[in-house]
Amino acid sequence: MKKLIYLDNAATTKTSQEVVDAMLPYFTENYGNPSSIYEIGTKSKAAITAAREQIAQVLNAKPEEVYFTAGGSEADNWALKATFEAYKDKGNHIITTKIEHHAILHTCEYLEKRGARITYLDVDENGVVDLEQLEKEITPETILISVMFANNEIGTIQPIAEIGKIAKEHNILFHTDAVQAFGQVPIDVDACSIDMLSSSGHKICGPKGIGFLYIRKGVKIRSFVHGGAQERKRRAGTENVPGIVGYGVAAKRAADTMKERTATEIEVRDYLITQILNAVPHAKLNGHPTKRLPNNVNISFEFIEGESLLIMLDMEGIAASSGSACTSGSLDPSHVLLAIGLPHEKAHGSLRLTLSEETTKEDADFVVEKIKGIVERLRSMSPLYEDFMKKSQHNK
Ligand SMILES: *Cc1c(COP(=O)(O)O)cnc(C)c1O
Repeated sequence: MKKLIYLDNAATTKTSQEVVDAMLPYFTENYGNPSSIYEIGTKSKAAITAAREQIAQVLNAKPEEVYFTAGGSEADNWALKATFEAYKDKGNHIITTKIEHHAILHTCEYLEKRGARITYLDVDENGVVDLEQLEKEITPETILISVMFANNEIGTIQPIAEIGKIAKEHNILFHTDAVQAFGQVPIDVDACSIDMLSSSGHKICGPKGIGFLYIRKGVKIRSFVHGGAQERKRRAGTENVPGIVGYGVAAKRAADTMKERTATEIEVRDYLITQILNAVPHAKLNGHPTKRLPNNVNISFEFIEGESLLIMLDMEGIAASSGSACTSGSLDPSHVLLAIGLPHEKAHGSLRLTLSEETTKEDADFVVEKIKGIVERLRSMSPLYEDFMKKSQHNK
């Protein structure tokens, strides 16, 4: 079998063996409903309690502020829709950014149709939000600021503590989509004045279909899924016990290994970036050079289509992404790359490589060699590149 070099860890990760091992008994012998009073029910309940504690610890939160959901998208939907509903009397204005995940942006569109006024903040060429603009946009009707912790496409990490401070000073709730940041960068909900935070299991070597919304005590949002009394009556439905158990283990593991793991990832990441930029002319790094996720590489190659590059990389056993997983399959350029000011043609020629702790410099060397060859081949077929070369000959 051809070796797979998986460089799409922002789309999803391989579930770690430790997580799978921890989950298995909750499919087989410990299958009890956590709401039941007999022994195998209480075992499930205890397992959920333990996972909630593991997760709360990573955030410096209280366990009872962690509410399990069916993933990051649900947590994002819940935070926005429920805040809009619960704080209607105060106002209808929400501030977010142009570079959020679609779980936020499409929820905002939904709320706009129902009377919300949404401000989408600009970002600079590195993808960082403008704090002055944020302050200027605040009105007495502003009920929520929702800014992602780190971007899933270009990896830029936002000044979350500063944003939290601004929100707090104006007595406005602050939500952050931390799906990409949780387990990758240290997060302290108190130090950053975060009122709500979304996260997802499958982005941190945990299972798919499980996430949580952190809701600070005192935030008055209601249930999003109605039914039973699970999750302190805020999220009905029999708990996904194996998923929650796996998520807890994944969170603990991510936190315990964070320092060493991310140091290695940053080393391989920066090596990969340097090698690509050295090997391929007319290429540019997208996202902030240093304030970026430890595992994110996003590069635009002029004169080529990212989709063609992806297909040819796949034939070499390299799994990567252009923009985000949700947008590949459509031909619209990434909204994030447009927001940082890339023209359409450069946004189209972009490649996202997101590493795991298993990615080595040898993998990086292999990938760089393949990218170099493929980009050369694609450019040799590109009329735009031919034109460009002719012109630059002229100018010499
Ligand atoms: C993956 C992702 C989500 C969605 O999480 P799911 O668990 O897949 O629903 C939301 N926001 C960001 C930034 C993501 O990367």
